[in-house]
Formats: sequence, structure tokens, C-alpha cells
Amino acid sequence: MPDPLGLSAEEMRRLGYWVVDQVVAHFERGPDDPVIRTGSPDALTAALGGPPPQEPGDPLVALQTLVDTALAHMQHGDHPRYFARVPSPSSFAGVLGDWLSTGFNALVASWAGGSGPATVELVVLEWLRELLGLAPGTEGVLLSGGSMANVTALAAARHACGPGVIYVTDQTHASITRGLRSLQFGPDEVRPLPTDDAFRLDPAVLAAAVADDRAAGRRPGIVVATAGTTNCGVVDPLGAVADLCASEGMWLHVDGAYGGPAALCAQGAAALRGLERADSLVLDPHKWLFSPYDVGCLLVRRPGVLAGAFAMTPEYLVDTQAATGEVDFRDRSLELSRRARALKLWLAFRVYGVQRMREAVARGIALAEHAQARLESDSRWDVITPAQLGIVTFAWRGANEGEHARRAAALAQDGYAAVSTTSLRGRSVLRLCTINPLTTEDEIDETLARLAG
Ligand code: PLP
Repeated sequence: MPDPLGLSAEEMRRLGYWVVDQVVAHFERGPDDPVIRTGSPDALTAALGGPPPQEPGDPLVALQTLVDTALAHMQHGDHPRYFARVPSPSSFAGVLGDWLSTGFNALVASWAGGSGPATVELVVLEWLRELLGLAPGTEGVLLSGGSMANVTALAAARHACGPGVIYVTDQTHASITRGLRSLQFGPDEVRPLPTDDAFRLDPAVLAAAVADDRAAGRRPGIVVATAGTTNCGVVDPLGAVADLCASEGMWLHVDGAYGGPAALCAQGAAALRGLERADSLVLDPHKWLFSPYDVGCLLVRRPGVLAGAFAMTPEYLVDTQAATGEVDFRDRSLELSRRARALKLWLAFRVYGVQRMREAVARGIALAEHAQARLESDSRWDVITPAQLGIVTFAWRGANEGEHARRAAALAQDGYAAVSTTSLRGRSVLRLCTINPLTTEDEIDETLARLAG
């Protein structure tokens, strides 16, 4: 009996193949499925809950319940008409890599206990470093997503720089401000700066704030810039901010959780110029690098900073301590037991190659430009922020209170497409994020037509 709780090898194969068929069918149905379905707590709990099952049950019935009920009630971030928040156009090679790491129960904590998967993680980090143009010697770690990668970066930066003021903007992602709160940065240590008319960090405003802080006897420490804001895909002026950080001795953290992967294609790389000068950089492969959830990536340009903040060697781990030239990934974040997230990325790079990913990323940028052109040709809409790294925001002319939310909700209810609302300096807008390369121009046109209807 190979399964510790009693499934035979024959049953394992039968059930495993059934799962593969379900997943491939999910990919095949793609645009035919509703983009999002939300159930009621009572109905879902009735179907999935009850007392803990005491006796073995029929595995196929249980699997079918998961597919029909749990997995049928969710947003499909990999759906070609999922334009809300940030989609996750996950690739099948990515899924296969994840299955392998789960199936083999791979652990990447110490070199001694996982040298193979650790090497895969080192290789993937090196590929990402090179594709994003960061300096050789940059170190990194894979985490569960942008939130954990950002908070890990901030903890490491704080450890490396010591106490000091941290500068954010009104467009900085909430995971950073929440992370700073949980790291116990006091309100007087966090300086939120207003952005300019294009929602970018203004280097002159930053320079003035730094000068003010120095004059008041405070020590400037860390600047957070964003490479692709969640609201509008805006990239802060990374070169100018990096210049200021260099001259003032400040740490530059760049949150590229959303926009970082755009550096793969020429247009994205031009928009992201200066990204390579970050002291720490976050990107989320489960957003724009075709990986299934979950995987975020933190790269730190200064070697040893992660280990300086996170290394630990309690007596019960001494046996597994890495020798020179080996890496214990447990020393690069707060995770000790950690899954082998790199396998899905490694496999996707090997199966598809960078060139295909580059084209897929470029298509996401072009689709938002197509949406912008459509909106501009219809006098009922105003484009509020132009297409930037796959995101465009727009407003219905004369929209009344709550109207955008009502239009977005009606579209999602109908199941055809999902879009988001957000607000820019208090103004309500609709927002499309178009990073799924399977989306067609016709689907964008139809989504806008239904939103207007
Ligand atoms: N930073 C930015 C710019 C984001 O857009 C997001 C999520 O959308 C995050 C951080 C948080 O990433 P995650 O949801 O993977 O934790």
C-alpha cells in the first residue's frame, strides 16, 4: 500500500488520471465557462461541510464535489475575459511543475535536505535576475506572492539600513503599508507622498521630503517605488528616484509585483528603465509570468542582506547547515518549511521558452491599447488614464454615484466578463487589466459594449 492512509497504486492512478482530465477540460472550456461565480455561505457549507467524516468515503464522489461545487464558485483569473484586479493567466506547464513538486512533497529549506529543488530555485532566480537586468550577484527567494515578498524586502532593508524614514506614495500597494504596520514602523517613520498628475512619484517632492527630514534631525532610510501600480499600471520615474537614493544613501525598494515581468518585452523594458537599479525588487510570477498560484519573487541586489536578516541555526538544524557554495533557503525569509515553488517556473521556461513568454507579455500591453482606442472612439466614455502596462481606466460620461459598480456587477453577474472599479483621487473609474494573451480584440469590444449597455 504506497499511500500511508491506504489508497492502492491502482486507485492512485485512476484518481490521478481523472484529475488530469478535469484540469485539461478546464483549460479547454476556457471562454465558455462563466468568468466568476459566487455562492452563498449557506449553500456552499451545506454541500461541503458537515461533521468530520469518520469513515472512508468514495474518492471519486469527493473529487467530483470539489470540482462541481468548490471550484465552480470562484473567480477564474485564467479566464480570457477576466479583466478585474490582476488576472492570473496560468499555463499548463506551470500547473505540471506545481503538481510534481506537490506529488514528490519537495521541501526547499536546507541544501542538505533539498539540494535538487534548491538548485532549481537558484537557477530560476538567476534567469529572472538576468531577464530583468539586475547585476550578477543579486540574491533572491520565492515566496507566496507580492505581499509576502514586499514585507520580506522591507524587513531585510530595515535590518541592513537601521532605523530611518520610509517614503511611500498615495499609489503604493496596501501590502506595503500593511507590512510596515506589522513590522511596527511608527507613523512618524512612514512618509506618504502625494503623486503627480499622472499618479507617479514626483522626484522633486521626494527630494523636498528628504531635505525636510534631514533638517528635522530624522534619517531618511528607504524609498518605495512602484513598477506598475495596481490602479493604473503607472511606473514611477525609477532612474531619477535611483539617482536620489544613491546620492542620499537610501535603500530603493521597487514593487514590481504587477509590472515587473513586462521587462521581458521591448515596450515594457523601455517603460521600466531604471528597474535594474533597485536594491530590492519584487515581482509576481502568478500574475504576469504564467504561473499558477502561488509564487512571488524577491530579488536583493546586495549579497548577504537576506541571510543577515533571516539566518538561523538552532541546535536541531546544525546537521543540515550549508557549506560554502551551498544555499539554505530557510535563511532567506521567515519560512522554514517551504514548498518548491520554482519547479513550475523552471518547467514553464523550459517548455515555452522566453521568446514565447515575451510575445505573450507584449500582447497583454497591446490589448489594453486596443481597449483605449475603442473607448476613445465612443463619445460616451472618457479615458481617465491611458493604457499603461496592460491597464486602462475609464469613466462613463456623467456617471452617477455607484453607477460604475452597478455596471461592473451586472457584467460579472451575467458571467460574460469581470472588470473592476477603483477610485483615482476620489473619482470613481472602471478598470481593465488585459494580461491574458488568449483574450481576443472582439472579446474586449464585446465587454465594452456590454458595459455600455
Ligand atoms: N504589489 C502590487 C503592485 C500588486 O498589484 C499586488 C497585487 O495585486 C501586490 C503587491 C500583492 O501581491 P499578492 O496578491 O501576490 O500578495
